[in-house]
Amino acid sequence: MSDDLFLKIIAREIPADIVYEDDEVLAFRDINPQAPLHVLIIPKVHIRTINDLQPTDAELVGKLFLVAQDIARSEGIDESGYRVVMNCNAGAGQTVFHIHLHLLGGRDFTWPPG
Ligand code: 5GP
Repeated sequence: MSDDLFLKIIAREIPADIVYEDDEVLAFRDINPQAPLHVLIIPKVHIRTINDLQPTDAELVGKLFLVAQDIARSEGIDESGYRVVMNCNAGAGQTVFHIHLHLLGGRDFTWPPG
């Protein structure tokens, strides 16, 4: 999986501004932020897209949301509001094929998204 950019971040082969880490999950600030707070929350195991998820991944995916909740709270945006997004495949805007939850906050958001 040497073409997986996020595995390189996990391995510290590429630097990143890491805001959370445990045995299963890493969270770091997006290099091209779309909001004042833009953090990517990823599993440490390589899963290409939402389409590749298995029932055994359910707890891990749930944990991505709990980490988002923790970061939103520690960054002080839990009450004002935030958005979490996971793009699946190119048509939805996925560019890095290692699943990641975008945590976006610190500004108002419109709906529907672009
Ligand atoms: P996607 O478009 O796949 O949903 O999201 C990929 C995200 O990864 C984009 O928001 C992009 O800015 C971010 N990204 C791409 N390369 C890097 C990198 O080297 N470091 C960090 N921190 N973020 C990256």
